[in-house]
Amino acid sequence: MRIKKRLFFGLVILSLLPVLAGLWFILAFSLWEQFGHALAIIAFIFLTVLLVLAVFGLLSMIYMIETGKGIKVKLPLRLIIDVFYPMALRAGTFLGLSREKIQNSFVEVSNALVKTTKVQAAPEEVLILIPHCIQLSDCTHKITVDINNCRGCGRCQVSQIRELANDYGVDLAVATGGGMARRIIQQRKPKAVVAVACERDLTSGLQETFPLPVFGVVNLRPQGYCVNTAVDVDKLKSALEFFVRGEPANDAYRCRHYEEVASTSL
Ligand code: SF4
Repeated sequence: MRIKKRLFFGLVILSLLPVLAGLWFILAFSLWEQFGHALAIIAFIFLTVLLVLAVFGLLSMIYMIETGKGIKVKLPLRLIIDVFYPMALRAGTFLGLSREKIQNSFVEVSNALVKTTKVQAAPEEVLILIPHCIQLSDCTHKITVDINNCRGCGRCQVSQIRELANDYGVDLAVATGGGMARRIIQQRKPKAVVAVACERDLTSGLQETFPLPVFGVVNLRPQGYCVNTAVDVDKLKSALEFFVRGEPANDAYRCRHYEEVASTSL
């Protein structure tokens, strides 16, 4: 397992400490004598169930990532993603770790889990979701209304991504923020999503859309956040290969467009 993913697991384990501390507190200070048996027993059972589910969720995640086999354990995974990951994020930033680094680690773990699922989606059921800041800021052809407004001048990656979506026959949408991204997903109801965004938007989107298979690609920001951003198109292709053809991209990968280019140049 790569170091990036280990950061997520390390911090989530750290976030279990308050639960362990709560159990220890109940036992060590005999809380039932002060607050009554019923309350102490309910708290003890609640914390024990929480701990068992969290440990089971963590072990399931590690098993899936290491073996590449998906298992259906929705509740424990949701518990880790919704409850313990936010705690892990706070613990990590408290310890001085960069927020982006922890969020990146979560995206890596989430992508690794998505790869263990068997997604059976037709190309048109796969959605590429890109942020509007990928469009060159001085371009007057606004793509947020309709991506086909792009004139394909090639000054930014919008035309390249549109071409990629056409090559694979998948759906493509542009979002101006997290709220719009959610609306697009609710309206179009894709079976799988390849989402491009910054760490913050990606991680909140991944949390909200779980268990929908969403492959997250963190954007590149040569000029900072929210302006003239970019994306590693190879990562998009890799995700599309997985969703559309059921296998990860490799060195022998060629999409239709590139096959055509190659054959005409021979
Ligand atoms: S490729 Fe050209 S026309 Fe299309 S969005 Fe980018 S800058 Fe505008």
